[in-house]
Amino acid sequence: MVPDVPLYRMLDKADRLLKSGRIERLEGGHFNVIGDHGTYTLVVRNGRVYCSCPGFQEKGVCSHSLAVMKLNKSPRGRY
Ligand SMILES: [Zn+2]
Repeated sequence: MVPDVPLYRMLDKADRLLKSGRIERLEGGHFNVIGDHGTYTLVVRNGRVYCSCPGFQEKGVCSHSLAVMKLNKSPRGRY
């Protein structure tokens, strides 16, 4: 069961991930994010971010995907 994290907490965490340099940009719109509970793989496709973490599988949003959206500055990466 994934705890229900409010959006502002996710945004805080996204900022923390960005500032501590825990997001690695790979080839072809792929990213690695070193999260608090493991490293997750993300992919940006058609302006949307997909994450491999359990929170994203359940809710379609997570701090990792928000961080990659901010990093990517995609015009469709707004939240
Ligand atoms: Zn995630």
